[in-house]
Amino acid sequence: MRFWPILVAMAASLVLAVVAYRLIRPASPPVTTVAFSELAQALDHRDVAALRVADGGARLVATLRAPDHGSSQIQAIVPERAVSLSDLQQWSAHGVRVTVERGGSTPTADLVIQILSLVVILGVVVYIVYRQRGAVASARFAVTPPSRHLTLADVGGAREARADLGDVVAYLASPDRYKAMGARCPRGVLLVGPPGTGKTLLARAIAGEAGCPVIVAAGSDFNEVYVGVGSRRVRQLAKRAREQAPCIVFIDEFDSLGGRRGRPNRSGEEEVTLNQLLVEMDGMEANDGVVWMAATNREDMLDPAVRRPGRFDRVVEVPLPTVTDRAEILRVHAAGRPFDSDVDLERLAQLTVGHSGADLANLLNEAAIIAVQDDCASITNAHIEQARDKVLLGRVRSGVVVGEAERRLIAIHEAGHAIVGLVACPDDRLHKVTIEARGRSLGAAHFAPESDRHVHPRSYLQGVIAKALGGRAAELVFLGADAVTTGAGADLVQATSIARRMVAEFGMSDEVGLISADPAAQGGPPSAQLQGEVDHAMRSIISAQARRAEAIVRAHRDAVEALAAALVEREVVSAVDVYQLAEAHGVIPVRVTA
Ligand code: ATP
Repeated sequence: MRFWPILVAMAASLVLAVVAYRLIRPASPPVTTVAFSELAQALDHRDVAALRVADGGARLVATLRAPDHGSSQIQAIVPERAVSLSDLQQWSAHGVRVTVERGGSTPTADLVIQILSLVVILGVVVYIVYRQRGAVASARFAVTPPSRHLTLADVGGAREARADLGDVVAYLASPDRYKAMGARCPRGVLLVGPPGTGKTLLARAIAGEAGCPVIVAAGSDFNEVYVGVGSRRVRQLAKRAREQAPCIVFIDEFDSLGGRRGRPNRSGEEEVTLNQLLVEMDGMEANDGVVWMAATNREDMLDPAVRRPGRFDRVVEVPLPTVTDRAEILRVHAAGRPFDSDVDLERLAQLTVGHSGADLANLLNEAAIIAVQDDCASITNAHIEQARDKVLLGRVRSGVVVGEAERRLIAIHEAGHAIVGLVACPDDRLHKVTIEARGRSLGAAHFAPESDRHVHPRSYLQGVIAKALGGRAAELVFLGADAVTTGAGADLVQATSIARRMVAEFGMSDEVGLISADPAAQGGPPSAQLQGEVDHAMRSIISAQARRAEAIVRAHRDAVEALAAALVEREVVSAVDVYQLAEAHGVIPVRVTA
């Protein structure tokens, strides 16, 4: 928020007020300061016409009947409270007009306080009027000139999105050709996808390719408590876009502007703002050459009117990158960075299933930071491994001191996760098992999907629940029911959340059947009966997988014990060592290597 215009307004008001005060202030006659004895003498000789007791009795100002010392007013300082009521009565009796000023404050001080209060009130009023007029918005919607743009070469992957946006680029590059043919470009393009998949990047790259300016706004820029400000900003944005056409208007986090109307927590002001946007986007000739782009992670939250033809009628999915996309994104971000020959970006792309473009950019950046800290000339595979651990598991908390008994407890818990995971989730690949304190956890058995998966079978989800409960199962088997720890808190959240989705969303429970408990499907919150059935089915799934995890730990007790011992000794056990240990104890079949 910019405060300087308000400060300038307040300072200007203050200066004006002071000048005005000086102009209207009555000119006071000059006052000569004399000794008290002189003033007392003037009183005795009845030379004083009027006497003012000022500064709470510490100063007497006398107006003389005849001017003395060239002035008609003299003043003298007296000890505070030296003037009594009887003195005042006596002087009054001698014909002197006595006035007393309130102690500590003078009319001038009062006036200054009043002026200051006025200035503050004026400042607040100016601020509110300033916000109301939406003056801040004009600075908000800055136009990025074409020269500063990215191009599609800076975007890795996103193949489908690029293809979908190809005609937008062509239109923006030569709108006249399209107009001559009577063709209209899609008015609005909605980029939909999970966070960090490059939606903002794509919008900027499209503008860069077309060589046109882009005006960036965020949905929240239009949310204001002041009446009419949001819609005024929409009008300002549209006006600016028309002036810059052909251009792209990009609105990030669009759901906060284009959210469903009539929702309980949506204010009337927000609805007016959205209506204004719809009006601006509707087929106005002057709008030609302006392509509206918006990005959201929550397409389901948008008002249906937003998606009507002539508005955001083209939806471009920007999903999480596939393995080929990840390799491309890694190459984009690797450009210009010195990498050691042991770094294999293709392999890294395979190992980073589920990572978004932003995650990958962050990973390489962390690796570069670690390389600098290690004083190395290039980024090695070891730096990337360290960066992965830091990103996935959190930073090592070297200050955490864990006692021997607790280390063993944590080691048993993590070994339980690892061994149950190897058995119940054979499709996931173990990355490493550790009892280092990292981020918020004191240990982790880190698994990652082996390859990109788009759908998950019921057996896989059951396996993930069993793996999540493997830590508690190991505690139960090795320590007994009364010694289980709080370490399973986050595991239970994960298991419960998967079980709930299995039952309520994916129809994977025989008890509830093929009924979705999703509020969108139910037309509101599910009935109490359905909710009760969902809870019961979830409990059944979790109990079954808890029993399964316990059975796996009992069956492979030696393997869990051996892995826990290795963890206590080494803190981190690599995937290779865990697989060897698991093979040696018959947890998984021995892999035949050629
Ligand atoms: P959000 O939905 O959270 O706003 P977003 O989808 O708009 O995220 P961006 O802000 O575009 O994501 O991406 C963040 C950063 O991630 C980019 O600045 C870029 O460094 C990197 N990035 C994301 N996707 C890609 C990609 N496909 N190619 C190259 N870099 C990417």
